[in-house]
Amino acid sequence: MDTFMKLDIYGSEDDLKIAENEICHLDRLLDTTNENSDIYKLNETGSATLNDDFAKVLGESLELCAELDGYLDISIYPVVEEWGFISRDYKVPDHKRLLKLLKNVNYKKISLDGGTAELPEGMRLDLGAVAKGFAADRVISVLSQRGVKSGILNLGGTVAAIGDKPSSKAWKIGICDPENTASYFGSVQCRDKIVATSGSYERYFEENGKRYCHIIDPKTGMPVDNGTVSVTVISDSGIKSDALSTALFVMGLDRAREYWKSNGGDFDFVLLNESGELYITEGIADDFKLSESYDFEMNILK
Ligand code: ADP
Ligand code: MG
Repeated sequence: MDTFMKLDIYGSEDDLKIAENEICHLDRLLDTTNENSDIYKLNETGSATLNDDFAKVLGESLELCAELDGYLDISIYPVVEEWGFISRDYKVPDHKRLLKLLKNVNYKKISLDGGTAELPEGMRLDLGAVAKGFAADRVISVLSQRGVKSGILNLGGTVAAIGDKPSSKAWKIGICDPENTASYFGSVQCRDKIVATSGSYERYFEENGKRYCHIIDPKTGMPVDNGTVSVTVISDSGIKSDALSTALFVMGLDRAREYWKSNGGDFDFVLLNESGELYITEGIADDFKLSESYDFEMNILK
């Protein structure tokens, strides 16, 4: 999944090993750059009988793409690649080329029937926006079956709080300062939640003084440039938090707020924009703490 992960659990070495194996297993299925992965094969051939776990994550992802009205679209891969975010050989694509690639971006054209998936010609998938969240769900489930009741899993910015700290206090999860990722501008207290952050600071390049980030608006093929710098989503489901953090980032503040209002109740978010204004949905407001030395303007969304 092209990131660092850190698993801290109150359990045994075996518990940890099994958690690690689960993540490596998913990584082998979902790594678009590994010629032996299932997703690579599907992308190459356009049709494949899927491993059960792959079918499950693909099915859940498709549901989320629909719920999120295409702001999340797992068929965005060729566009992400064109901008150089896979090879890291970054470039601003030719406009016509982008429009051509966009014709093949539409999650609705992915067929998943039982364990068989089919993609139209030219379409390729990337579950990068949801894989870490799905992995978190899996690890939580495996650990819970083994009786682990407390832990904190940091899967490259998607953080799962399992139960409470052994002291019975809630876990405190920091949210990265986009300008200095070694520090946290704030933290949320939670138990049994998954906290996922998407930010324009995580991967980007600059050309002619303009910054292009790795989260792409599937409707335009352009890197998101709507004033948002970071969105953190807190919910009971890893894949949901991960999908939502990416999609709300694409939506920007106004649409994100509308989406939360009409679908809220089972998730909360913290959104930071480039003017240093912070927007926090009311469900998490009491559990959010701004770090000392940050003077962001706090706005509670109701
Ligand atoms: P990160 O991987 O940095 O934690 P995200 O969870 O937001 O961040 O996922 C971003 C990744 O998802 C990108 O690197 C890209 O591969 C892919 N992606 C970018 N934009 C979209 C989008 N609108 N819908 C689905 N996937 C996307
Ligand atoms: Mg995400």
